[in-house]
Amino acid sequence: MTEHETDYPEIREEVAKLCARFPGAYWRELDKVRAYPTDFVNALTEAGYLSALIPEEFGGSGLPLSAAAAILETIQKAGCNGGACHAQMYIMGTILRHGSPEMKQAYLPRIASGALRLQAFGVTEPGSGTDTTALRTTAVRDGDDFVINGQKIWTSRAEHSDLMLLLARTTPRDQTHKKTDGLSTILVDMREAVGNGLTIKPIRTMMNHNSCEVFFDALRVPARNLVGEEGKGFRYILDGMNAERLLIAAECIGDGLWFTEKSVRYAKERQVFGRPIGQNQGVAFPIARSYAQLQAARLMVREGCRRYESGQNAGEHSNMAKMLAAEASWACAEACVQTHGGFGFAEDFDIERKFRETRLYQVAPISTNLVLAYVAEHVLGMPRSY
Ligand SMILES: Cc1cc2nc3c(=O)[nH]c(=O)nc-3n(C[C@H](O)[C@H](O)[C@H](O)COP(=O)(O)OP(=O)(O)OC[C@H]3O[C@@H](n4cnc5c(N)ncnc54)[C@H](O)[C@@H]3O)c2cc1C
Repeated sequence: MTEHETDYPEIREEVAKLCARFPGAYWRELDKVRAYPTDFVNALTEAGYLSALIPEEFGGSGLPLSAAAAILETIQKAGCNGGACHAQMYIMGTILRHGSPEMKQAYLPRIASGALRLQAFGVTEPGSGTDTTALRTTAVRDGDDFVINGQKIWTSRAEHSDLMLLLARTTPRDQTHKKTDGLSTILVDMREAVGNGLTIKPIRTMMNHNSCEVFFDALRVPARNLVGEEGKGFRYILDGMNAERLLIAAECIGDGLWFTEKSVRYAKERQVFGRPIGQNQGVAFPIARSYAQLQAARLMVREGCRRYESGQNAGEHSNMAKMLAAEASWACAEACVQTHGGFGFAEDFDIERKFRETRLYQVAPISTNLVLAYVAEHVLGMPRSY
């Protein structure tokens, strides 16, 4: 397989070396029991990759978004799963952009060193998925604290995080002009909170993603943990979405490259009717087509990163990159299963595991329909659908 020139070759090489220490067998064992890849995450943390986007003054490497995208793409391309820790890269952006100087000093250096894990992002609720502003979790000021009540769902990595960035309503909906007002971002220290008003319950899903339900029952959080201004949390969350979408898109590209490499190798090796199956265009073309889709999506990821890094509006390209990359990785996955025939379903080949893992990205962190709604309304100027 030929590959287009790649950026950050040294980073890619080092990340690939690290990933080689965590082969398919490592992930298969964890997958069976839905366990967290602690050793893998520790290795990435120690090597400094999860703090790539934290500025050097706070102990990170201060790299641009495209470098973080290269790291995640390489992880996925190696058959590993960055979903276990990717949020550590982008959630801290809310603190970086909107936190007070004291908050940044208090948290960012320790997040950069790995002493504190900021892996949990509490936005989605059972009654409000896509419709974020309908969320019902409340944070009510009481003296020097916020008192938090409510529930989140699909809070990934909650059991393996020290901190959670929580989006909660601080002003009742009927007292705000707009439904996007009155929501605030609050940093919850989960180490102190579990058992004192915070309960975490894992949800078993079709892939090993460590997603949880989180219940808040009069949890007290110091008011100083408010990130930025009260009531502006929804805007802060939106601010971080382009980076999140581009990084997830990069992961999809990595997945697609992993599937394609597997497909090509097997199509050349596997002999049926006395010749390699890849000689049949019915086998080769789906692999070639999905690879073409993947490379087109990859260009969109790069353009999104370029815009983001140059301070231009990256909304259109980040959304499109996320959608195209998720669809392309799924097409590569589908071609890979089909190419492998029965072995596509055998656990030891890792294909069925990666197949389950890459399916997620058409739903989370944003579903394809909502990307299309964004493009229809905000890019093409058609009427708002919801
Ligand atoms: C494994 C996993 C990990 C996750 N991790 C996190 C996390 O760490 N933190 C967090 O906050 N959330 C997380 N999520 C939640 C994720 O962001 C939501 O699942 C996603 O945004 C969709 O919301 P929903 O599941 O409530 O679907 P719904 O909003 O109920 O939507 C269901 C379907 O209807 C479609 N739909 C809804 N409204 C419209 C419309 N107006 N037009 C067209 N189609 C529409 C959607 O596209 C979707 O396909 C995770 C989810 C999963 C499955």
